[in-house]
Amino acid sequence: MSFEINRKIGKTIMIGGHLISIEEEKNFTRDHEAYGEWRPAQMKIVIDSDLPDTLRNETIFHEILEAITGIYDIRIKHHKLVILSVALHEILTDNCPGAQAPGTGPG
Ligand SMILES: [Zn+2]
Repeated sequence: MSFEINRKIGKTIMIGGHLISIEEEKNFTRDHEAYGEWRPAQMKIVIDSDLPDTLRNETIFHEILEAITGIYDIRIKHHKLVILSVALHEILTDNCPGAQAPGTGPG
């Protein structure tokens, strides 16, 4: 399992046939009281530009799960989505050397 392809494409990810951009915003945490956000109307994930790498990756996975549950209309309590995104991040970082969340590479 690798996110190499997404690193080459740049700061985008395909989910359910939708091209979703992953953008950074300065002071996002301060202004929104969250590290990131899924914006369905814009098909965009926004994350704070100053997060440390591990928190940044974890936040992107969280917002990707927000996008998946939104696009596929999966009903899940937010605290369970938090657990799933932390677990997914942990599995990928522990088992896929060099794996990065989409949107974290150059481009
Ligand atoms: Zn959330």
